[in-house]
Amino acid sequence: ENTQLKDIVAHAKEYGFVFPSSEIYDGLAAVYDYGPNGVELKNNLKRLWWEAMTQLNPNVVGIDAAIFMHPLTWHASGHVAGFNDPLIDNLDSKKRYRADVLVEEKAAQYENNGEAERAQALLQHLGRLLTDNDLGGVKQLIIDEKITCPVSGTGNWTDVRQFNLMFSTQGSAVESDAAQIYLRPETAQGIFVNFLNVQKSARMKVPFGIAQIGKAFRNEIVARQFIFRMREFEQMEMQFFVRPGTEMEWYQQWKETRRRWHEALGLPAAKLRFHDHEKLAHYANAAVDIEFEFPFGFKEIEGIHSRTDFDLTQHQELSKKKQQYFDADVNPETGKPYGNYVPYVVETSVGADRLFLATLCNAYTEETLTEGEGEAQQTKQRTYLKLHPAVAPIKAAIFPLVRKDGLPEKAQQIFDELRHDFRIIMEERDAIGKRYTRQDLIGTPFCIAVDHQTLEDETVTVRHRDSREQTRMPIAELRQYIGQAVSF
Ligand code: ATP
Repeated sequence: ENTQLKDIVAHAKEYGFVFPSSEIYDGLAAVYDYGPNGVELKNNLKRLWWEAMTQLNPNVVGIDAAIFMHPLTWHASGHVAGFNDPLIDNLDSKKRYRADVLVEEKAAQYENNGEAERAQALLQHLGRLLTDNDLGGVKQLIIDEKITCPVSGTGNWTDVRQFNLMFSTQGSAVESDAAQIYLRPETAQGIFVNFLNVQKSARMKVPFGIAQIGKAFRNEIVARQFIFRMREFEQMEMQFFVRPGTEMEWYQQWKETRRRWHEALGLPAAKLRFHDHEKLAHYANAAVDIEFEFPFGFKEIEGIHSRTDFDLTQHQELSKKKQQYFDADVNPETGKPYGNYVPYVVETSVGADRLFLATLCNAYTEETLTEGEGEAQQTKQRTYLKLHPAVAPIKAAIFPLVRKDGLPEKAQQIFDELRHDFRIIMEERDAIGKRYTRQDLIGTPFCIAVDHQTLEDETVTVRHRDSREQTRMPIAELRQYIGQAVSF
């Protein structure tokens, strides 16, 4: 199965979607760059998320906060004390692993062997140990389960210890704790510290949300699976502020809304599932992941968390600034306004890069075509990206059939008419079949061929990526036709 991920990684590089960072220096672990097609696809995903949040919900507004924040932010959020991974080293291979991941992989083995109950029990045991921060217990579990090093095959383990995931840098010339600045490990805190600025300036009434897209940084030790787990990545987060006691209704609502959004983008329902957390983070009273079935199994793409009033209360305490909202609505039970309170928060948090990978994995299609009849029959392999037209990097490619007879000029004219509305390209070189193949490989939904008939009757041939069917269409209808397909 992992060969499939390998194919996707190779495809992503060859066709300009994702490159390893600083590749000429042999790369930097878990850091990647997006190429010409990748940046278009990623921007489309981000734009669609942004529009779904801020345009479709009149009570959600956006911000763009800085990556650097006051150091106390991360004391308040709990990241300085608690944003840790439990690490363990193997003494023979000198390789470092996440202890929890080793146990999870063991559970996955049980699951694959049809021992689902045993897998579940193991995960629950692990969850309890992690909640209690019982690192000795985690090591004992690894020994009891006879988990060996994937490289050396030995069970010669060190103790488990906590490792903080935040990157830090010096904020001033003087080295001191106070000057230690972190690269934010999540975008959420930029929203929390701006809660009152936004509420007052945009005159928002609870319930309302604040959305943000931005970079986050985590010093991930187990960096595998391509852009699934990066050290520098992008999050799309929305914090929804609600009246205390109503958070579960909103939690349920956002859970469904977000799942439907992924489906609308083209991720099939069968490849999506909810996964309730066995172990709740210190700030949450309910949490669920939306998981997508990657070639390496079902894994989280988005988290939906009911964060209570934890963050705002913490910031109130450390900043000594009230983080309250006055709710003038009348409480039917008391007949009086709800009054002042610290709102509760329901969060939706999705990684732009993980969503990109899910989209790419889902779109990557290899098919065998049978062409010709009788003795001339032959089979051909075709690889194409079955991307939703709304996220495809290029919406249409325009091909003059030949480079003469005025066809390139006609194609140029169509190109000039459509370029203001869609990201399109024009290609004149190579046989038309080859040009179709190139567009299939990057997921362009439509290829528009300009031929001699075009000059006579102002129609073109539109070739559809998935079915390879061709239809004749008046040039005048192209804008509306493509516009409809790429709308979301
Ligand atoms: P995981 O358990 O996979 O480490 P998480 O539960 O720590 O993820 P959250 O803190 O809930 O993740 O972050 C929200 C989202 O941000 C995730 O659903 C994921 O899409 C994305 N994300 C988190 N860490 C990374 C990373 N290292 N690389 C890419 N995306 C990430």
